[in-house]
Formats: sequence, structure tokens, C-alpha cells
Amino acid sequence: MKSILCPICRKKTEPELLGLEAYRHCQHCQMGWLKKFPKTKYKNTYYKGTSNISSFIFSYIAAFFYFLRKQYSGKKLIELWIDIGAGDGGFLKAVNAKEKIGVEISLSGRKIMKTKGLNVLSDKEFLKKSDLNADCISYWHVLEHVEAPWIYLRAGERNLSKEGKIIIGIPNINSFDFHYFRSCWFHLAPKYHLWQFSPKAIELLLSRSGFMVDSIDYWSLEHHITGILQSFINKTAGSDSVLHGLVKRGLDYSPGFKDIFWSVFWLTFGFPIVFFFWLINSVSKKSGAIVVVARKADYSR
Ligand SMILES: [Zn+2]
Repeated sequence: MKSILCPICRKKTEPELLGLEAYRHCQHCQMGWLKKFPKTKYKNTYYKGTSNISSFIFSYIAAFFYFLRKQYSGKKLIELWIDIGAGDGGFLKAVNAKEKIGVEISLSGRKIMKTKGLNVLSDKEFLKKSDLNADCISYWHVLEHVEAPWIYLRAGERNLSKEGKIIIGIPNINSFDFHYFRSCWFHLAPKYHLWQFSPKAIELLLSRSGFMVDSIDYWSLEHHITGILQSFINKTAGSDSVLHGLVKRGLDYSPGFKDIFWSVFWLTFGFPIVFFFWLINSVSKKSGAIVVVARKADYSR
């Protein structure tokens, strides 16, 4: 039988990922991926821009997370910041940069960004660009969604300044979170996440795309602690992404009693367990989400 090679490290792969048969897995770089990619669900109405009480609360939480996210650039003032998968431009609007470009696949997202006064490119337009000379390019929980993440990284390399940085937020399959929660793990998200990266796999992919890794942060709050919280709710309530459904913009969602009960429990009495889980994962570098900062390989520090 013909063996299927890992697209990242080119070694032989396994037909399942910790008992999950929908995935292939590479034991060498720990990369996992769906055998069959789902059809894209990012319709033109994905970003509706609706507002209700939960989106009002969410805007404050988001502002705090955007503040943390900005710190990875390490610079006070940026000439050009490009955000890949910019959504409705909420984060890009918050960064300190003279010029900002949001790259977004969804037409509704691009329309909302334009109303916010941001420069906009579709993903296809960005992939044709070179020499935009950005000081910072962010890929915040994007690479796991696209069919060929390497083409977005290569385009990033072409459009990054000599001393520029890229910031990548991704889930980590080589985590305690995944090993413990398995199919209940929030970041598994098989409808949306085609690729499941490990620190080793992203490092390999970055080096093949012309980058060298500056740092990997295992302590990120934004997608790590929220991922643990959501995974505990999923596991106990037996449903899928309750909190996410409640706080994310524009998703029609009506939770049941069990969903609300377990959400309240894990946000209050159960929260010390969530926090402890986060702490242990971060210390042992087995976090369910990581942030990688990299620069061009040809220009060492
Ligand atoms: Zn591999």
C-alpha cells in the first residue's frame, strides 16, 4: 500500500490521531490533519456586525485580548501592520500603526473593515503581492483554517520588511488539552480546523518558508485559557462550543439548561480547576494554544 507522506516533514504518517479516524497524523513532527477537508463555511454573511448584550460584554473582553496580542510586535510604532484573516477588523483597528491592511476572505468582513476606514485586500489579492514591506504581519488563528497555510507564509515572507516580525497564534495538538479532552477539545473544531499544528511542525514549516523562530509563548491567555474553559463545558454539558455560541457576534444560538448550568459552574466554582490546568500546561509547554513570533531567516539579530 502506498504510504502518505507528511506535507511538513515528508515522513510516513499514521491513519489516525489518538483514536480519531477522521485525521491523519505524523509521529515525527506531530502534525495532524483532516483526511477530508470540509467545504468552507465562511459565507458572505459570516460577519453580520449585530449588537446585543453578549456582544457588548464580548467587546470588553476582546479589547483586553487585543491589548495582549499587540505586545508580541515588541515595537511602539509600526509603519505598516498587515493582519491576515482580519475578520471585521476589530483587532487591526486597535493596533498602533501608521498604515494598516486587513486581509480577509469574507466579503462581509471586508465591507465592515472599509466602514472602519481600514485598507482591505481579499486573500487572493494578498497572495499576488510582494514588497509591501510591512514591519508586522499577524496570522491570528488563521493558518489552521486554510487549505494551504504555506502559501500564506510565503506571501508573508515576500511582504515583510528586513527586520519585520510575524506573529502566529495557533492551537497546539501536542498539548495536555488535546490528550485529555480528545474529541471534546474546543480547538479540534473539525468543521473549521483543517490542520492541527505542533510547535515542532510550525517551526519546520516556518523554516521552509524562509523564517526563523524568535520565540514561542506557551502562556497566552486568549485562546489557551478560554479553550480549556470551553473544553470543560463541552465535556460536562455534552454539547459543542456553548460559550463560543453565546459571545461570538451574530451566531444564532439558544443554549439548553445543561449548557447554561455547566457554563456558570466552570466560570465560578470550577474556575480554579481551569486556572490550575492552564498553569500546569503553560509551565510544562503543553499548552492548547501557542503564539509564535518569527523573522526572516536571512536577517539574524
Ligand atoms: Zn511530519
